[in-house]
Parts: sequence; C-alpha cells; structure tokens
Amino acid sequence: MRTNIPVTCISTAGVHPHSADGWNEAMREVLHTFLADAACVAVGETGLDYNRNFSTPANQRRAFAAQLELAAETGKPLFLHCRDAFDDFYMMMRDAVAAGAQGVVHCFTGSQDEAEAFAGLRLDIGVTGWVTDLARGQALREAVKTIPLNRLHLETDAPYLSPKNAKKRRPYNEPANLVWVARAIAELRGVDETSVAQACTNNSSRLFRLANLGLHP
Ligand SMILES: [Zn+2]
Repeated sequence: MRTNIPVTCISTAGVHPHSADGWNEAMREVLHTFLADAACVAVGETGLDYNRNFSTPANQRRAFAAQLELAAETGKPLFLHCRDAFDDFYMMMRDAVAAGAQGVVHCFTGSQDEAEAFAGLRLDIGVTGWVTDLARGQALREAVKTIPLNRLHLETDAPYLSPKNAKKRRPYNEPANLVWVARAIAELRGVDETSVAQACTNNSSRLFRLANLGLHP
C-alpha cells in the first residue's frame, strides 16, 4: 500500500472562453487565491473559442489576456483551449511565450500545420479520443504522426470523447481509457504504446511540475 502521498488530487483554475462575458477583476483575485495552492498546477482552461461564440470574441480576448498575465504573475503553466480561433490565439500565445509562458493546447483537433506552429512556439499538445474517430479525426490522425514526442500529452476531455477503439464502451469517458488513446497514437506513429505512454506521462509531469507535489519522479 502506498502511503505518505502529500497530494492526491490536483486541479487547474481558470475561466473558459465560453464564460468570458462574465470576466471581471474580482475573478482575477479569486484565481490568484486558488493558484497560490501548490495543488493548483495551471491557469486554465483559458483561450479562445469562436466556434459558437458563447461569449463575444472581444470578451474572450480580454479574459484570455488577463489570464496570460495571471500565468506570468504566478509562474504557472497554461491549460489552453483553442477552437476555430487559430490566428488570434497564435498571435496572443506568440507574445506570451516570448515573455516566458509555457502551456499545453488541450484537446488538440487541428491540422499538421497548426500542430507544427504550436510546437514551434514550444507549446505542448494534448490529444484525446478524438484521434480514434475515423470520421472526424482524420486531420489529427495525420498530425500526431509528426508532433514531437516531447510535446505530446494524453488526455480524456472526460466525460466526453470516449475512445472509439476501446474494447468496453461506457456511457462516459474516464482516465482509465487513456490506454486506448496511447494505443491509437502508437499505431499511427508505428511505435510501441509503452514508449508513447511513458513519454506523455513524463511530459505532463514536467509541465505541471508533479515532482514538486511528490506525485511523479
Ligand atoms: Zn477545452
């Protein structure tokens, strides 16, 4: 039995672009309070989502810019969301990275060109069960062949995006299903899944500094 685990649950803290219309200065203070906790390992989800514009694009950029400042102030990495907003997102992240920001573009579903652009900014890229979707995931299936292995993360986007290659399908997605995402990526890259899983675990541990929490060497 494992004992002496100082932290068993970690989180991020941020305002999603869907909720950006409600951004205000009081939220900045609340997020500061959350991020002061070592177990709160990243700022996010934050970013831009012009797919359905639940918040106006201008308000999304305002809330995103404020959270980029928060990441700079706290020294924490970013958990990033970008959907149908590549140009604005790229320009804002280019400036943030130049000022020292680090982060992962979560649930990446874009093209090889977009993956290369993000990797060129030294951003990490999170891949979900979307990569197992033969209908919607074709661009991503091409992109994961060339994303640098030291930039890849495995993620669920639970409860959504259950891997379609999973042997047993539940009505919801969960972390146990990450093995299927790793398997799909390994098959597409022509490598063994253990090496993909190990690299992705190391990348997540590095970005979120899990060693500081005693969670990963
Ligand atoms: Zn998201």
